[in-house]
Amino acid sequence: MIAHECGHQILARHPRKAKRVAGVSEASEEILASLLGAMICNNDTDWDTLYAKATAELLDRGQSAEAASRQLQELWDLLEALL
Ligand SMILES: [Zn+2]
Repeated sequence: MIAHECGHQILARHPRKAKRVAGVSEASEEILASLLGAMICNNDTDWDTLYAKATAELLDRGQSAEAASRQLQELWDLLEALL
């Protein structure tokens, strides 16, 4: 998915900030790339897909749905500050 790849590029361009966000949250780069992709994409379908992908990765790590959605909200806020 193109937006997700753009997310990786943004992370690569801001390695120190990306590391700090990841350190705070223990989120993988994959999750951050999906959220950044969602942030920069311009259509609802991509947004849903990317946000769902990020959610699924947190659920895969054993988080509850509630904890996952709270963490994604926090990450979203951190990433908005990054951009
Ligand atoms: Zn990726």
